[in-house]
Amino acid sequence: MVLDRPGHPLRVAELRDPEPGPGQVLLEVHACGVCRTDLHVVDGELPHPKLPLVPGHQIVGVAEDGRRLGVPWLGWTDGDCRFCARGLENLCDQARFTGYDLDGGYAERVVADERFCFPIPQGYSDEEAAPLLCAGLIGYRSLRMTGDAERLGLYGFGASAHIVAQVAGHQGRRVFAFTKPGDVAGQAFARELGAEWAGGSDERPPEDLDAAILFAPAGELVPTALAALSKGGTVVCAGIHMTDIPSFPYELLWSERRIRSVANLTRADGEEFLALAPRVPVRTEVETFRLAEANEALDRLRAGWIRGAAVLLA
Ligand SMILES: [Zn+2]
Ligand SMILES: [Zn+2]
Repeated sequence: MVLDRPGHPLRVAELRDPEPGPGQVLLEVHACGVCRTDLHVVDGELPHPKLPLVPGHQIVGVAEDGRRLGVPWLGWTDGDCRFCARGLENLCDQARFTGYDLDGGYAERVVADERFCFPIPQGYSDEEAAPLLCAGLIGYRSLRMTGDAERLGLYGFGASAHIVAQVAGHQGRRVFAFTKPGDVAGQAFARELGAEWAGGSDERPPEDLDAAILFAPAGELVPTALAALSKGGTVVCAGIHMTDIPSFPYELLWSERRIRSVANLTRADGEEFLALAPRVPVRTEVETFRLAEANEALDRLRAGWIRGAAVLLA
């Protein structure tokens, strides 16, 4: 499936098989998760995608030698910029991202730099594993940025939050889930996954929060979440794109409250999270689509109709 121009649906295309270059591996794609970032790319909210582009960066595929590998968003780094040198390869000046700068997994075959692929843990089917590769991984990095927060708010209960809620519960944290106002089904889903409270994003939680992670791309949630924080608390913005944050009184930030974003992932995040996931154990809930139904999957995600994560099966 190919994006020719942002703002237009993906097109079914017959492409030549990609040829692996030095250090690259050719994978037969079995499953590819659909991420909100894909939606931002397709809708033109991210500025510089390669065009034409095959989107998709939560790829589970099989190499020619039979290994089952996952391809994440971070597809390549230079390894020697000032960020890479400090262990912050997620911020690499020259980073290339799968399904953005590099053709991704909405396809039957893909090539990827082997150094950035992860072995997929056993016990997960292809479609169950796919959402671990971004929803899980970047969700996990976001969770780490909340430090030792005990009372954790999750704003937007989609693919990422449904995984993070399980990890947070495993770590002994208390989870408070916020959905679109009136999304009773989403709130029930959050409670099934261990949230002790679930309500609309217009509601106040029953207690102040020590941290909140914002998965919904709505800037107005930043002051809302700040207002729900206890002193010293942190708001983590997990998405790659967000609408503008409205101005708010300084009082909401006072008392050492913090706002920070999380960008991309490092390979260390991936190794740590994929080792942890089977131990929790994280169970992903997926809605599957055929590859040719990618536009429908994106439409359902845009409308907020996916329970858990959407996954394309090649
Ligand atoms: Zn670098
Ligand atoms: Zn993603």
